[in-house]
Amino acid sequence: MTLNLLAIAAALLAVMGKVNLAARRAQIGILLQTLGWVLLMVSGQVESGSAIDRLLSTLAMGGIAGGLAYSAIAFDLWCGRATVARAPAIIALIMTVGYCIGFDSYPFRVGWANGLLTLQVALVVVALCRKTEVPVGAWRWLLVASLLVQMVVTASRGVLGAFYTELFPNFFTPHPANVTFALATNVTVVMSLVGILLAHRDEAQRELERQASTDGITGALNRRAWLERATLVVSDSQRLQQPLCVLLLDLDHFKEINDTYGHEAGDRALKLFVDGMNTVGGQRNLVCRYGGEEFSVLKRDADLEAIRAYDQRLRVWLAEAGPRELGMPLTYSAGITLLQGQHDTVESMLRRADSLLYSAKMLGRNRTLDEQALELSLQ
Ligand code: GH3
Ligand code: MG
Ligand code: MG
Repeated sequence: MTLNLLAIAAALLAVMGKVNLAARRAQIGILLQTLGWVLLMVSGQVESGSAIDRLLSTLAMGGIAGGLAYSAIAFDLWCGRATVARAPAIIALIMTVGYCIGFDSYPFRVGWANGLLTLQVALVVVALCRKTEVPVGAWRWLLVASLLVQMVVTASRGVLGAFYTELFPNFFTPHPANVTFALATNVTVVMSLVGILLAHRDEAQRELERQASTDGITGALNRRAWLERATLVVSDSQRLQQPLCVLLLDLDHFKEINDTYGHEAGDRALKLFVDGMNTVGGQRNLVCRYGGEEFSVLKRDADLEAIRAYDQRLRVWLAEAGPRELGMPLTYSAGITLLQGQHDTVESMLRRADSLLYSAKMLGRNRTLDEQALELSLQ
């Protein structure tokens, strides 16, 4: 099992290449566990009960429990959690310290170490079973299954060592519990590796999907992704007979901003604009960089009044943030359209909004038009 771990740890470090935080934690986790097991084997070769035995065995426990704590962090990150649980790391620390202090009593140290390791594994299992923040694949059930086996075997080692010590004198005895442990751990080590690699691939795929559906400068949805989602939302709203609005916005005289302040300032203005749209609107709005300096927002369950209020909040926000963040005013023109009946589509909503946007430009820019407002301004 230690050889297996050694090979896996070396392979993961050698071939995974440049990795992110989660995968790095998983690599460190495996590496520490490997070191732990190697040290445990070495400690079996020195004089039993000596100071060097105590040192090596304690370091071994630290490696095994610390490695598990690192793996727990990786799993939390892969489940999309922003804050990782601290408990597994705290248990690792308490276990290692207690083990060193109580080293002279064999039943105590075996019971203590395996008992706390069991608790640690149990916490990791619970964390993996909890609701995740991102969609995750079946790898987590593979990990849960392998951790459950590890948990049962570790718990039984703890109970045997602490309470039936004479039946279970040491780690190298060919006792059925030791044999079961060796077999089970070999299987779970390999299963955990498969789980880790799948989790890593899952994450890479999610990142690719994110990049394929968002705009790199602003983080807003790109046109393709927005149209895809907007089409679904439109049919939902039609089925549920709920109101729905589309707002199409175009920054005013943006070319001048680029020409006067440079392209980079232009990029910052685009980013600021999207930040504004996200700040003043709800999380359920679909915000899109439609192209160039043109944006669209789909607002669910919103009538004319709600979308006008949104537009007004954005204007107020921008009037303050533009000069503060960019050193210049930033304004836009926009067209608003509402979902009209069962046969309306995103495409026809966009066409209507675009023609209102065009009228807003013609009427002098820095304004938002809907059908009613256009009629009023033409009177
Ligand atoms: P109007 O008020 O009529 O909309 O005038 P405008 O200058 O905003 O419109 P126009 O279509 O003439 O110019 C759009 C400009 O947007 C031209 C283009 O260089 C700039 N632009 C498009 N994409 C980007 C980008 O990603 N970054 C920057 N900095 N500028 C961009
Ligand atoms: Mg423009
Ligand atoms: Mg434009």
